[in-house]
Amino acid sequence: MSVTAQSVWDNCLLFIRDNITPQAYKTWFEPIKAVKLTDNALSIQVPSKFFYEWLEEHYVKLLKVSLTRELGEGAKLVYVIKMENTYGNRQPFTEKIPSSNRTNSMKPQDVDAPLKNKSPELRNPFVIPGIRNLEIESQLNPNYNFDNFLEGDSNRLARSAGLAVANKPGGTSFNPLLIFGGVGLGKTHLAHAIGVQIKDKYPEKTVLYISAEKFTQQYIESVKKNNRNDFIHFYQIIDVLIVDDIQLLSGKAGTQDVFFHIFNHLHQNGKQVVLTSDKAPVDMQDIEQRLLSRFKWGLSAELQQPGFETRISIIKNKLYQDGVEMPEDIIEFLANNIKTNIRELEGAIISLIAHSSFNRKEITLDLAKKIVENYVKQTKREVSIDYIQKVVSDYFQMDVETLQSKTRKRHIVQARQLAMFFAKRLTKASLASIGSQIGKRDHATVLHACKTVDNLSSTDKQFRKYVEDLNKKLTM
Ligand code: ADP
Ligand code: MG
Repeated sequence: MSVTAQSVWDNCLLFIRDNITPQAYKTWFEPIKAVKLTDNALSIQVPSKFFYEWLEEHYVKLLKVSLTRELGEGAKLVYVIKMENTYGNRQPFTEKIPSSNRTNSMKPQDVDAPLKNKSPELRNPFVIPGIRNLEIESQLNPNYNFDNFLEGDSNRLARSAGLAVANKPGGTSFNPLLIFGGVGLGKTHLAHAIGVQIKDKYPEKTVLYISAEKFTQQYIESVKKNNRNDFIHFYQIIDVLIVDDIQLLSGKAGTQDVFFHIFNHLHQNGKQVVLTSDKAPVDMQDIEQRLLSRFKWGLSAELQQPGFETRISIIKNKLYQDGVEMPEDIIEFLANNIKTNIRELEGAIISLIAHSSFNRKEITLDLAKKIVENYVKQTKREVSIDYIQKVVSDYFQMDVETLQSKTRKRHIVQARQLAMFFAKRLTKASLASIGSQIGKRDHATVLHACKTVDNLSSTDKQFRKYVEDLNKKLTM
């Protein structure tokens, strides 16, 4: 009788069946197909990479023993991964696992040929000639790591969640992990740090950092070149996908759709997704509901504006890294005057150092003041929620506590709604954060307030006057 892939595998199965529970057999071995036998290498087809990992983790010995019985000491096992048909691709898709080149090992040995029809080649949108498919450049910046991401109250939740994810990608309930917060507060830094740490801990994992903007460009390109499926497949084999500035997908229906399918595939297969956004999910506009709801499946963690202490340690850390000394009063001056954006804080430090070294001048408080002026000018226009509450309360001749109180007195409710309305209009704060700062209300209340003010100002003359007056006070 001739030996075929099927006959060898059937014999292995007889042996395996005797050694594990019927349930495990049914789950892990029945779905496997024997596809090829060459010399002493048997190729088996498994439904997903996850499946392969599970087999390797739990049944590698059993597989080895059974296969050695059939094929002798040099027996090799080759895994072929057939992806599920998640995206209207009729053809079977074969994933290729890089060889580990250890003879006798039961690791996947080789890149196997596609099964029947010519499967599409796995085309990598980051074309790196001469590099095998699965060796995907992570696009990570090693300078953004956890060591130099300083912890403070403003980022503790996001930082810890990021660490948890980095230590166990796909294995925590933080999937996806959505990091959101204003400009320059460390979203990109933290996103890279997660990827860098995963690569460090799990070098074999495929990690990819990509900005939503670049993702969109690649997608558009793939549609033009008629290889949209390849694009999708490429992203579906990634173990850890990090997409920065996901709010940029807003209004881009096609890209959202494709991302939706990639997301689902990764999530179903226990792969980790990390997203960043400059807005909380409730505030994201023109993003499909089904996608938004998935963003909320895991954890949304906010990066808030760092407190004074944190700003001080960030400055000191930066100076230390650059090997520069600076008097304490100047450090405090910087921390006191640049509050809302860590990038600006760093920018001010860098130009301070540059000015002083180019002009061979000492770093003085005067110089610091001049430089900070340049930096703060651009952000001066942005008013704070505290300031808005103060202006609105003054205007209605009440104090801020009254404005924030739980009372339902009409004129107080209106003042509060106006404060919320202007906070939404004039700051970048999220609805949730506005609510929590104006009398500890929730985002729905803020949304309602904005609508009410809109309505009233188009129907009520007196009310419109309030809006106009306040607008002048706040913006001029
Ligand atoms: P975002 O993506 O939110 O706009 P970035 O991640 O680009 O912000 O951060 C802006 C700058 O601030 C970067 O240089 C980053 O290294 C620095 N930064 C932000 N948060 C921290 C932190 N907690 N510790 C140290 N540096 C930080
Ligand atoms: Mg960023």
